[in-house]
Amino acid sequence: MKTIALTGNPNSGKTTLFNRLTGSNQYVGNWPGVTVEKKEGLLKKEFGEAVITDLPGIYSLSPYSPEEVITRDYILKEKPDVIINIIDGTNIERNLYLTLSVIELGRPVVVAVNMMDEVNSTGGAIDCDAISKELNVPVVPISARKDINIEALVRNALSCDKAVDLSDKIYSDDALIAIARIENLISEECKRCGLPLMWTAIKLLENDIRIIKHLDLPADKQRAIDDIARGFESTGELGDRETMLADMRYKFITNTLVRKHVVKPVKPGGESLSDRIDRFVTNRILALPIFFLIFSLIFYLTFGPLGSFFSNALDILINDIVSQAVISLLTSVNAKEWLISLVTKGVISGVGGVLVFLPQIAILFFFLSLLEDSGYMARAAFIMDRLFRRFGLSGKSFIPLLMGFGCSVPAVMATRTLENERDRRMTIILTPFMSCAARWPIYALFISAFFEEKRWIVALGIYALGIVVAVISGIVLKHTVFRGETVPFVMELPTYRLPTLEGTVLQLWDRVKEFLLRAGTLIFTMSIFVWFLSNLGPDLTVVQTENSIFAHIGRIIAPIFAPLGFGNWKASVSLLTGLIAKEAVVSTMGILYGLESSAAESGGLVPVIMQAFTPQSALSFMAFALLYVPCVSTLATIRREMNSLKWTAFTVAWQLVMAYLVSFIVYNVSRLVI
Ligand code: GDP
Ligand code: MG
Repeated sequence: MKTIALTGNPNSGKTTLFNRLTGSNQYVGNWPGVTVEKKEGLLKKEFGEAVITDLPGIYSLSPYSPEEVITRDYILKEKPDVIINIIDGTNIERNLYLTLSVIELGRPVVVAVNMMDEVNSTGGAIDCDAISKELNVPVVPISARKDINIEALVRNALSCDKAVDLSDKIYSDDALIAIARIENLISEECKRCGLPLMWTAIKLLENDIRIIKHLDLPADKQRAIDDIARGFESTGELGDRETMLADMRYKFITNTLVRKHVVKPVKPGGESLSDRIDRFVTNRILALPIFFLIFSLIFYLTFGPLGSFFSNALDILINDIVSQAVISLLTSVNAKEWLISLVTKGVISGVGGVLVFLPQIAILFFFLSLLEDSGYMARAAFIMDRLFRRFGLSGKSFIPLLMGFGCSVPAVMATRTLENERDRRMTIILTPFMSCAARWPIYALFISAFFEEKRWIVALGIYALGIVVAVISGIVLKHTVFRGETVPFVMELPTYRLPTLEGTVLQLWDRVKEFLLRAGTLIFTMSIFVWFLSNLGPDLTVVQTENSIFAHIGRIIAPIFAPLGFGNWKASVSLLTGLIAKEAVVSTMGILYGLESSAAESGGLVPVIMQAFTPQSALSFMAFALLYVPCVSTLATIRREMNSLKWTAFTVAWQLVMAYLVSFIVYNVSRLVI
């Protein structure tokens, strides 16, 4: 089957086109070894047969960013049959730079000039046939969003099979001579590494660090190349070979392509609607208030009445109606007591406990994808960027961190919007410090027991503690682990666009599907596991909880927590079950403190907690519950998104150390103060 790769600048309409081409047969994963999103899909049947790979959004093919390296490595190694390079017709000059770089890689290319609807409606014009003649590749005007000319694009792509060489048109004679001389030197090594000769020669002339390392030329050849490059540098005024070559490409784009064949749109009154909106939205004084208003509204709708309504309804459906129905069904077939307990107390309450968050996650993602598609998200990141710089993150980290207050799983997934890998890893490490909604029951319990009069101060303090620890971690990591890798954050604000329902729904469905899959597999298995561990003894017979495997494990780990003030086995093992889901800390405590029945009555657990803890150890316990390793679903998500066991281990270690350290301080300081 033919393979088609899709490349383009960020916001050129790649995702929209990808959805047009594949419908909903797509698979989202990560590129091996890095955290950059990888999407693949089958071409819709009516268009023909092909596999489509969506490559990361990039501006060029430099060796400096993981996304750009992924793209060129993919094209060089996988050799897709054809590359569709989608460019934004409203910003054609800049987009064509990537086009030239992609053509240079020596694979067949078809250029899709997108957003033609907007170009035409603003009075611009692009002579695609003329540009096609200059570039010697098919150039098809399309509108991905309005579904215009997509079929012609596919037809061109499926029949295109020749690569073109534009070097004579782009580069100066001096450059061409230098390239030819380098080609003579490296032909052998190129063949060995399977790299296209001319492209490699150009990269060496550009001083491309990755190619130099990859080829591993003998010292004399490398010296000869450096001599050629120095000779070439002396032929121009710019002085630097990389800049000189880039300059030739830009000159070709401007002089040969754009000036002759593109009519820039006439802007009525000089200011577009987008600019006018931005005058308010990114205004120095109004930006922050508008920003907080929008996000408060979304959080209010998600975690407030609307989200709670759906979550509660689902809760009743699962835990009352379905659960009762299952019990009566099992009883009617004379099922054993333990089986009923396993199915209802294990599976249904375990999986159900997670499923009830689905409506909130769906609502949150619905709004976030609206914000993203409309172009506001880029502004939000822009507004937060200055603040976030200080502790080593870019403005884009803001969104995932914010979502962390809801649930870390989608928050970690949301880091996919960060194109820079270093920022993305750091954000993933810090996200779980934002106290997720599932931890609220823990605080609620301890606050009722010890701090009822200071309820809001303590609650606020806990959330603030999470933010402070994240900020400190950010500063420390910036100066240690993630030092020196800082890539300047260049951001272009895309024009505001009306989001499409189709795009939003597809994006939403992607996330919901993943969530359901996880609840049905991971959470399902873990729930059964927990049920067994708290009902079976070490000899695998049914025992009292006091003698269960859990109790034994709890007694082993309890001494570790003694310096933090809560060195009893029940607290320890509750933290352990909290790894499955944070709500489990409270429910486990309920079971273990022998209050299974009366805990349901209001305040049932409170008196026992007041006996087992002191105000100081309660504070310490809350701090630990806030900061220690997140639940397994988050860990699994972190593992998948980081795409590295090493980084996942580092994240866990960092969280454990922070939790222990901070709880220790909280415990000892509060003993002096209270
Ligand atoms: P990506 O970043 O390259 O994946 O770009 P997207 O597919 O997310 O598109 C960015 C924005 O451009 C979205 O708001 C799309 O709705 C919009 N868009 C995509 N194609 C077109 C088009 O042909 N015309 C117009 N006017 N807007 C488009
Ligand atoms: Mg996209």
